[in-house]
Amino acid sequence: MIAILGCQGCGTCSRVCPVPGAIIRNGGKVVKIDMEKCKECYECVKACPYGALVIMD
Ligand code: SF4
Ligand code: SF4
Repeated sequence: MIAILGCQGCGTCSRVCPVPGAIIRNGGKVVKIDMEKCKECYECVKACPYGALVIMD
C-alpha cells in the first residue's frame, strides 16, 4: 500500500496516475489512494516532489 505523509496538494500525482479515480483528493490534498483501483505502478510515488507518498510493505 501507499502511505500519504504530508501531502502539499500540488496535484502532480493525480496528473501522472494512469488510473482515473485511484487518487482521491479533497481540498487539493490527497486524502486516500483507492487500492482496489490502483495498479501499483508507483508513478505517483516517483513523481511527488515532496516525497509525500511512501510505499509500505
Ligand atoms: S501506484 Fe500507479 S495506479 Fe496507483 S495511485 Fe499511484 S500512479 Fe496511480
Ligand atoms: S504529488 Fe505529492 S504533494 Fe502533490 S498532491 Fe500528490 S501526494 Fe500531494
